[in-house]
Amino acid sequence: EAPADGPSPVNADRRAEQAADAFTRHFGYAPEGVWAAPGRINLIGEHTDYSDGFVLPFALPHTLHAAAAARADGRVRLRSLQAPEGIEFDVTEPAPGTVEGWAAYPAGALWVLRQEGYRVDGLDLLVDSTIPSGAGLSSSAALSCAAVMAGAALHGAEPSASQVIRMARRVENDFVGMPCGVLDQSASMLSAQGHALFMDTRTMETEQVPFAPDRQGMTVLVVDTRAPHRLVEGHYADRHRACQEAAKALGVAALRDVTDLEAALAALASPELRRRVRHVVTENARVLDTVDHLRAGRLREVGPLLTASHMSLRDDYEVTVPEVDTAVRALLAAGALGARITGGGFGGCVIALVEREQVEECGWAVEEAYREEGFTAPSLFEATPSAGARRMW
Ligand code: ADP
Ligand code: MG
Repeated sequence: EAPADGPSPVNADRRAEQAADAFTRHFGYAPEGVWAAPGRINLIGEHTDYSDGFVLPFALPHTLHAAAAARADGRVRLRSLQAPEGIEFDVTEPAPGTVEGWAAYPAGALWVLRQEGYRVDGLDLLVDSTIPSGAGLSSSAALSCAAVMAGAALHGAEPSASQVIRMARRVENDFVGMPCGVLDQSASMLSAQGHALFMDTRTMETEQVPFAPDRQGMTVLVVDTRAPHRLVEGHYADRHRACQEAAKALGVAALRDVTDLEAALAALASPELRRRVRHVVTENARVLDTVDHLRAGRLREVGPLLTASHMSLRDDYEVTVPEVDTAVRALLAAGALGARITGGGFGGCVIALVEREQVEECGWAVEEAYREEGFTAPSLFEATPSAGARRMW
């Protein structure tokens, strides 16, 4: 099955134009600009970003477009082609906890911009996206980033990418109430085609690492498990708290600072905290190993690291569900070089590094395993590392 939106720039331009046309139809006049922000896949480095650790995401061709225009009367009108309800309010109205549903992301973007001293007045904004929502591909960060960029630019400001990242994270942390790290927003803003983004979430230092599986006869196969969400936010906040508690008990600023894993494990009384710490510390090491392999062009060597990451997320971090574990098992049995859950967990997507000639067989294997288990049929696509967020016009 082909991705909903290919990586070609022609395609991107066409989608931006479609968003502009939809804006014109809805609001009766043409937008001033269109902003694009992609979804992302985290190749490796899962649940490390809120412990100051390392991550290695890449952008998907799947992209959210926001067409927008400024208004001088303080009114804000928000529409999404993927949501039944539009919303309208005065720009001074929104406060954390007052906006329900999808509009909380763009409303939160305006709130954060104003909090940070940007002179944001009203605007009309229309969203159109090919990023599956709620599948762990980070549609929410794409929406927040696009709304922050649009809101600032329409009122004459040009925040840097790192400022957009910080503000878009605040949208989720402070307005929506999701205590996420900085991975999703960074991936959407900073990714480059044919590369993965190696990022130290403590220093925010980044490096574009060559990552183009298609050039070496491979592909990243994505399985959207479509597993029902199971209290995602509660579990996520719970893991976040556990990491903070463990760091405190170990006397370090964040789990990133644990250098002697055995000593740290011996110092923790709680078996649960020991498991969480072991995941974070070994996962950071796997990111560094993966980056070494990619820098040297040894892509196939990355496979076993992906699988080790999955086992750690399954057994130590405990964020997998049967749909996810079944997909990984089937992919590995069908010859994938490596496979793991990607994203926050409790459902979402699985990725596999697969030889081109093995792709079909891997897909069939997952579909067959899902039929046997009686799970909802998964959706499959191949992910090409694509460009980061930008203004289209
Ligand atoms: P993910 O970021 O992994 O896709 P989240 O639960 O963090 O999952 O974010 C999904 C939410 O983002 C949706 O429930 C919706 O509120 C919002 N969202 C994403 N894409 C769109 C869109 N195209 N239109 C409106 N809202 C969207
Ligand atoms: Mg999200």
